[in-house]
Amino acid sequence: MVLFLHKNYIKETEMSKKILVIGGSASGPKAAARARRLDFHADITIIQKAHDLSMASCGYPYYVGGFFDNRNQLLCTPTGVVRDPSYFMKSKNINAITDTEVTSINRDAKTVEAKNLVTGEKHTYEYDKLILAMGATPKMPPVPGIDLKGITTLQSMPDADYLRKVRDEGKIKKAVVVGGGLIGIETCEALQLAGIKITVIEMLPQILMFLDWQLAKILENHVKSHAADVVTDNAVSAFLGDENGQLTAVKLANGDEIPCEMAVVAIGVTPNIKIAQEAGIKIGDCRGIMVDTYMQTNDPDIYAVGDCTEIPHRLSGTNVHAPYGDLANLQGRVAGENAAVGNVVEFPGTIQTGVCKVFEFSAGSTGLSRTSAEKLGYKNIETVTTSGPDRPGFMGAKILINRMIADADTGKLLGFECIGLGDASKQIGMAAMAIMGGMTIDQLVNADLPYAPPFSLAIDNILACAHALQNKLRGIMEGLSAVELYNKLAKGEKPFIIDCRSPDEWEEMRLGIGEHLIPVGGLRDRLNELPEDKSTEIVTYCKISLRGYEAARTLIANGFTNVKVMEGGIMAWPYHREK
Ligand SMILES: Cc1cc2nc3c(=O)[nH]c(=O)nc-3n(C[C@H](O)[C@H](O)[C@H](O)COP(=O)(O)OP(=O)(O)OC[C@H]3O[C@@H](n4cnc5c(N)ncnc54)[C@H](O)[C@@H]3O)c2cc1C
Repeated sequence: MVLFLHKNYIKETEMSKKILVIGGSASGPKAAARARRLDFHADITIIQKAHDLSMASCGYPYYVGGFFDNRNQLLCTPTGVVRDPSYFMKSKNINAITDTEVTSINRDAKTVEAKNLVTGEKHTYEYDKLILAMGATPKMPPVPGIDLKGITTLQSMPDADYLRKVRDEGKIKKAVVVGGGLIGIETCEALQLAGIKITVIEMLPQILMFLDWQLAKILENHVKSHAADVVTDNAVSAFLGDENGQLTAVKLANGDEIPCEMAVVAIGVTPNIKIAQEAGIKIGDCRGIMVDTYMQTNDPDIYAVGDCTEIPHRLSGTNVHAPYGDLANLQGRVAGENAAVGNVVEFPGTIQTGVCKVFEFSAGSTGLSRTSAEKLGYKNIETVTTSGPDRPGFMGAKILINRMIADADTGKLLGFECIGLGDASKQIGMAAMAIMGGMTIDQLVNADLPYAPPFSLAIDNILACAHALQNKLRGIMEGLSAVELYNKLAKGEKPFIIDCRSPDEWEEMRLGIGEHLIPVGGLRDRLNELPEDKSTEIVTYCKISLRGYEAARTLIANGFTNVKVMEGGIMAWPYHREK
């Protein structure tokens, strides 16, 4: 990546070019603004199909959920100025044309055809450099009844306005959210906060596919604790309606019918590529516009950014469709600069870092999951799950559950997932930097991170997780996940299970899986209660499995040879508990 060019390179470039941007929400205006900052003389125009500009789409669920009431806050600068055409002209000398759809691109003439969606008027715009920033369109399931009234998405400002109106009117009592991904779950929370009884339908075996099943199941339990229902492993087979064409129920593949007055579909998005494809711009395997690291398409005068593109995954090298707001902005910045001054900066791709709020929980992931690492051919993968408070108890600790994935052959960190009542986003951010920096677990264990009690533990969660993974890699700890233990028990295996907590804790909360209560402090004196055969499989745990780990070390020191720690302890147990 070219970072440090000599200071005056911008002045040497050709000025007064026409830069045309198609799409005016996240990546488009970013590209236009960057181009303007580097080329004061360029003629810069944004053509935007929607009525609004620079919408904070990521904020829609919070507007619908009533976290704030003024819709203009979704359209404002940090100082409260609405980013409308007049703002773009006055503050940036950028001509922003709204309610206008670009219908075709003529690469030979270097023009685009556009239609004003209010007046129907058509107009041709010229360009020297064109930036495609058309975003993506929500997928809709191809099932009967999809056109019924009451079926919507949460993708646009009008969608957000509609759902906010639904909230304010309070007439709708039951709704279904189709899709348990990031937007589906955020929508579920928003509508549940609006007093609507929600059922989330997810076709796959879990919600939030960016997480390991165990963590996703804990989140599902959290969603259900808020009186929202979650149905997994079941797809929508039809939307049912009345004689007025109004939605009345959603029918599932297993035949169940869920009565509802509204359905919000959130099953993913498809890149908007039509006009690019028709103009001969190359489309990739993920159905996104193909770009190189300069965000340039196969036409040197045309760049593409944001959700309409596909970009390389930095760990796999293969292209992915990564519809994230942060990436859209970063790509916009790169394309804006390159369109203004020539190809000087590059965008290296994504490691698919994301985070979301799920009621009181936050949840995120970065890099590869175990499954995606396996698919990529990593032969020797090690993972660990840990739980821990996000800060000392005297500062109001909140739980976090972490999962780390590493390549045992190179020791490199491949992925990290985190959920919990604490700030998962901070842990995910640190992990993302470590992955992008190519750090190994051995390097990560001694990372110098900020620490003070209001913010973290002396050893923050990501480091504690790295320590546990390093222990596993070095053979100091053998672990098994709650899922592995559960499956063992389901198969009739009978490991000797020790809960290492105190009797008081046991009274308050316990798994009830045939465990023996032996507090870690008394373990040395109670070894005679353990199986005589020292090769018997023993599983230890506590609330977060720190004492479980200490107990395991004590047992190993006393000659037991098959001792495993249930990773993450009770906090990471996704199944029903006796108490
Ligand atoms: C509810 C919701 C929550 C989200 N939450 C998060 C989050 O928490 N974190 C995160 O990273 N990402 C989040 N995202 C994703 C993020 O908003 C998108 O990745 C980002 O907006 C993509 O930017 P973009 O510029 O590519 O496309 P968009 O922001 O979709 O903008 C594309 C614009 O192009 C216009 N357009 C399309 N075709 C034409 C045409 N032919 N002519 C003219 N104009 C056209 C459209 O009107 C649209 O306004 C969320 C998205 C939604 C919907």
